[in-house]
Amino acid sequence: MDLGIRGKRALVCASSKGLGLGCAEALAEAGVDLVMNARGAEALGAEAARLRSEYGVDVITVACDVTSVDGQAQVIEAAQGVDILVTNAGGPPPGLWSDWDRDDFIKALDANMLTPIAFMKALLPGMMDKGWGRVVNITSQSVRAPIPALGLSNAARTGLTGYVAGTARQVAPRGVTINNLLPGIHATDRAESLDGGVAAQKGISMDEARAERAETIPARRYGTRQEFGAACAFLCSQHAGFIVGQNILLDGGGTNLTM
Ligand code: NAP
Repeated sequence: MDLGIRGKRALVCASSKGLGLGCAEALAEAGVDLVMNARGAEALGAEAARLRSEYGVDVITVACDVTSVDGQAQVIEAAQGVDILVTNAGGPPPGLWSDWDRDDFIKALDANMLTPIAFMKALLPGMMDKGWGRVVNITSQSVRAPIPALGLSNAARTGLTGYVAGTARQVAPRGVTINNLLPGIHATDRAESLDGGVAAQKGISMDEARAERAETIPARRYGTRQEFGAACAFLCSQHAGFIVGQNILLDGGGTNLTM
């Protein structure tokens, strides 16, 4: 399917690895020029070079912490005039409800709620002026069903979800859609680190931890970054203009819900 977005320009935050890279690659495959970001310049530069050579698109890189005010300013400057925004950042650490104090919540809110809001605030006006735009926020299945060990993520991402629900309906009249993609478990470094925690806690191997988790998913496997990226590119396509303010689970059926 031709996604109809060749020649458009996208900012994909936190995109040197994992789900962000999956989104960047699927957009590059659709002919979209990219601004890519991550903290580590080496992996970012290597992936940007690969996407340029495989898909013939322009790729600018901005190596910085996207959750810092300074980092956001650098990325926003490089991304002026983008048609597509994909927000993403690392997820908060796991723990127990009784572990976290105010500073932990402020960090999580900054990274997973206020950072995507800052990018939307900065880049939505340009999209609205052009009468066309797409925003996809990478959140988590935890906004539909809380994950007990990820209380910081549950809290911050649900706040973002509320903001998007209201804002998406205010910008839709100007041709701009905002939607959230909710990953369940995907085979990325983040999943490795979560599985590492389970393996250490239970005294089992990584393979056993992965197999245990896969057994809880109806699809009986982890998702891939390519599958995730394809869904993101579709939401950014010409075909998705009537999808507004939605929260789309990509979880192999792992969240046990009727709707
Ligand atoms: P990942 O494989 O660890 O990749 C994270 C990417 O983001 C890397 O490119 C990393 O590069 C970059 N990054 C992290 N923190 C950043 C920051 N502060 N500023 C700029 N770039 C940053 O993670 P993932 O699995 O793709 O997860 C992406 C998001 O989805 C996370 O918020 C995660 O919690 C959420 N999620 C993931 C899963 C899953 O199963 N994978 C499930 C639910 C939710 P640098 O380290 O070089 O900055």
